[in-house]
Amino acid sequence: MRARVLGSAAGGGFPQWNCACPNCVEVRAGSARLAARTQDSVAVTADGEAWFLLNASPDVLRQIEATPELHPRRPRDTPIRGIVLTNGDLDHTLGLFLLRESQPLIVYATEAVWRGLADGNAIFRTLERFEGQVTWKKLVPGESTELAPGLTLLPFAAPGKLPVHLMRTGKPSPEDNVGLILRDSASGRRLAYATACASAAPVVGRLEGVDVLLFDGTFWSEDELVRLGLGTSRARDMAHAPVGGQSGTMFAFESARIGRKIYTHVNNTNPILAVGSPERREVERAGWEVATDGMEVVA
Ligand SMILES: [Zn+2]
Ligand SMILES: [Zn+2]
Repeated sequence: MRARVLGSAAGGGFPQWNCACPNCVEVRAGSARLAARTQDSVAVTADGEAWFLLNASPDVLRQIEATPELHPRRPRDTPIRGIVLTNGDLDHTLGLFLLRESQPLIVYATEAVWRGLADGNAIFRTLERFEGQVTWKKLVPGESTELAPGLTLLPFAAPGKLPVHLMRTGKPSPEDNVGLILRDSASGRRLAYATACASAAPVVGRLEGVDVLLFDGTFWSEDELVRLGLGTSRARDMAHAPVGGQSGTMFAFESARIGRKIYTHVNNTNPILAVGSPERREVERAGWEVATDGMEVVA
């Protein structure tokens, strides 16, 4: 199984258009220790032909152009066989509406995520211009689905929240946010992806033994935005457990048996983005890598 990190930033990307935090200023100035990043998405394949997107970011069009494996091979074509959504956040779903050019799409999502997208949403009609433009395949946490011959997907409930635009109207459900475990049946190797997780403790057992883990690296600390004067929300209010500290995800995974651990979905404010920063050195000492756009992962 092969995966390509299409985008490794959290919502807003890096740099973020309206942000002049130290990281955003430094990356705009062309610093060698920081790399710009697009918003969170990963492409996976078992056979090198059929690809599946994990989330559809607002940057999906340029992510596809930057990835030769995802280019069409005929006048109207795409090797993208399906799109798996882990929650309804705009940074994970807006890209769907950008893939509206009369290409049949298969979308895998839980019922809660699907309803949040499709119900009462006038823009969704752009994906309903002809019969069969979008086919929804229902994901149920804990139940495996075959994505393609030799590639199965096991979604699992991960602590999360409703997307911001549904917080006033929707009812929270355990299906609002899932993590994914992809398994290559030929090799038995497994790759896990969970880029929104409000707390690592409930999912560590589930992820034990996977060959590659791409995990929520949004914030270094609980009060990162508050300390930088950028907002009043703490990491947990946004359903992202921080990386650092005793209650952080690095500590939670310390003794888990996992082949390769990679933080992705990294917010522009997070000091682990800067190569050589004390926080980056700390995650590296704990055996973690930090994803970059275009990173290739073989599981
Ligand atoms: Zn996100
Ligand atoms: Zn910033």
